[in-house]
Amino acid sequence: MSWSQRIQQALEQRRQNGQYRQRTPCQQADARSLSIAGADYLNFSANDYLGLSHHPRIVNAWQQGAARYGVGAGGSAHITGFRTPQVDLEQQLADWLGYPRALLFISGFAANQAIIAALAGKDDRILADKLSHASLLEAASHSPATLRRFAHNQPQALAARLAGPCSGETLVVTEGVFSMDGDSAPLAALHQLAQQHNAWLLVDDAHGIGVCGEQGRGSCWQQAVKPDLQIITFGKAFGVSGAALLCDDDTAEFMLQFARHLIYSTAIPPAQVCALQEALRCVQQGDELRQRLRQNIARFRAGADGLRWQMMNADSAIQPLLVGEEGAAVELAARLRQQGCWVSAIRPPTVPPGTARLRITLSAAHLPDDIDRLLEVLHATGD
Ligand code: PMP
Repeated sequence: MSWSQRIQQALEQRRQNGQYRQRTPCQQADARSLSIAGADYLNFSANDYLGLSHHPRIVNAWQQGAARYGVGAGGSAHITGFRTPQVDLEQQLADWLGYPRALLFISGFAANQAIIAALAGKDDRILADKLSHASLLEAASHSPATLRRFAHNQPQALAARLAGPCSGETLVVTEGVFSMDGDSAPLAALHQLAQQHNAWLLVDDAHGIGVCGEQGRGSCWQQAVKPDLQIITFGKAFGVSGAALLCDDDTAEFMLQFARHLIYSTAIPPAQVCALQEALRCVQQGDELRQRLRQNIARFRAGADGLRWQMMNADSAIQPLLVGEEGAAVELAARLRQQGCWVSAIRPPTVPPGTARLRITLSAAHLPDDIDRLLEVLHATGD
């Protein structure tokens, strides 16, 4: 079959099984609201958990940074793309989270791909929570190491996997807060098991950093666990984009030699790094924002009790409602939109079959009235 035929067939299949993905152009979007095709909605589908994406201090830092450093890095960090703001931010992140080193990446997806590809060899194995992000599972399955998944958030399931034979090294992979379920990993138990078996632990805290833990230091800090490798991303609570790996000195140096996404890719723009430095300050000073977010989460969970859809065991800004069947989730999202609430329906293959859901995300930027409006619409739709 030719490429063209294969492409047509794949598109047709997606259309037929209802999994065709489309982008929606928004005229404007922030953590609280968005406008699409001239209509305004309350936004319950952004990852802008602290509402920082439009923060005047961060916007100003980016503008000042662009005026001083230009808009692009001009090359990879190994050429001339490694600039003063990047040197400073890496040190600030390492100090903040208590690691010897931090390395900046252009995105969380690139970081996960690069780190796993650099580390995992032929005789090694990767034991990943079944619900780990696509960037982690994909990197693991493309690596020469053996990938085995373990049941979501179940240390006993990891223990059973660890008991199996392996002639090389073992990397245990999990997330701090899971992106589609909103629940937190039992990091202390996973870390203890990893240590007992001389395995390394990698925690991707994309959805925990900035949101939980003292000063927003994230899930690992909150659970007093220091994994060998910690990934944080800046497209969620930080309101910007980019990512960092926290690790020891040798691992950082190793990544600088072998992580191809660092070596062969243009570095993160210095002006963006200036914005990230300001975002870090906002996160560190963000106790009031985190408190507002926690109040919004509590308000939503209290009000959602009694809805006909099952709430998940989520203690984070991600509050999914389990709908089950794909068509029903899509229809429910459409009905909420008709009532002015923008919520995303998440379907297989992103989540397991039969677990289609509304992924409701809350932000510190939401007002109590916004949460009440969403609840009102959900109750009316459920009835
Ligand atoms: N890890 C997790 C757990 C994520 O949810 C995401 C983004 N959805 C990523 C990594 C990728 O991060 P980025 O958007 O910075 O590429």
